[in-house]
Amino acid sequence: MNTILELRDVSVGYDQSTIVKHVNLALEKGEIGCLLGASGSGKSTLLRAIAGFHPVSEGAISLKGKVIASTSEFVAPEHRHVGMMFQDFALFPHLTVGQNIAFGISDSPEFKTQERRREKVLEMLSLVGLEGFENRSIHALSGGQQQRVALARAIAPQPDLLLLDEPFSSLDTDLRKDLSYQIRDILKQQGISAILVTHDQNEAFSFADKTAVLGEQSVQQWDTAYNLYHMPVNAFVADFIGEGCFIEGTIVDEDKIATALGVLINENHDFEVSSKVNVLLRPDDVLHDDKSPLRAKIVKRDFRGANVMFTLELSQDSVGTEQKGNLHESVEQVLCLANSHHIHSSEDSLAVRIAPEHVIVFAK
Ligand code: ADP
Ligand code: MG
Repeated sequence: MNTILELRDVSVGYDQSTIVKHVNLALEKGEIGCLLGASGSGKSTLLRAIAGFHPVSEGAISLKGKVIASTSEFVAPEHRHVGMMFQDFALFPHLTVGQNIAFGISDSPEFKTQERRREKVLEMLSLVGLEGFENRSIHALSGGQQQRVALARAIAPQPDLLLLDEPFSSLDTDLRKDLSYQIRDILKQQGISAILVTHDQNEAFSFADKTAVLGEQSVQQWDTAYNLYHMPVNAFVADFIGEGCFIEGTIVDEDKIATALGVLINENHDFEVSSKVNVLLRPDDVLHDDKSPLRAKIVKRDFRGANVMFTLELSQDSVGTEQKGNLHESVEQVLCLANSHHIHSSEDSLAVRIAPEHVIVFAK
């Protein structure tokens, strides 16, 4: 393994207030990481600490094995070989596209001659699909084109790490998706390591190899999208990532949990027999099956084209009325994602069964 960026026990804050505490994560060379969290969770503050625009109050940040920030060490931003891209393109409006891209390399000995600089600018323009745009004015570009110029400018100096702070947020949905795919392809093709900041989990999942879920002043889990969704380490991550509900379960023996939807296999042996637990059910864990004897009341149908997301209510007598979990206020509800051919618009209940291999359990 070849670690490019490492955060060891990093805390950041402003004056007396700590924003994010004890962050530990490592990014391998060529990997794309993501800081995902609600607005105000501290993503930009942490990113600025990596860039060198904000101090760390505890711990250490290393780049290529060298400490660049700790309480005793500090490498200035311009000496970190880190590139940045922001939401508001931050291009120089009075310079042309070519001059904007050349800006970051004008001090580099490798690009001393104008000829060498121009060569690099043309190479970058072709990389981001903007051949022929060298002499255009920034004002003449669309938002997506401006972001591609910003990318070209950020990666022209061949940074060891690229930091992207919500770079797609000001673009409309379609363009945003297209541009994020294009930029991911360019980074992967060039082997550029990067950290993306976003509040949009779909963007995180399609762009990043690994994502840090920020919340409650810490990184709750640093993992692949698959693991965040299917193996959340705590109820916060389970609730934050994807859709789902908690239902109550009772541990009946080492490997069985009794729930209103039947007995499930328990793979988590941390719980004592007869203890109450919260069982996470994703919409794809609850399957529509006409042969199943279990019927649940349909309380909502959300038509999504190929699928319908059903909100189902389990019968009160089989579940009880106690509060159970924090994903839904009415806790005896589960979600079921069914093929939209299975809409029975006249029916008020749906036959379901649980696919138990995805069941995740937390202490109540
Ligand atoms: P995010 O990028 O996740 O939306 P930020 O890192 O921008 O979050 O902000 C995290 C918290 O730090 C917020 O509560 C914000 O109000 C606070 N904050 C941000 N900048 C400053 C500042 N310059 N001084 C004091 N508090 C700040
Ligand atoms: Mg931010």
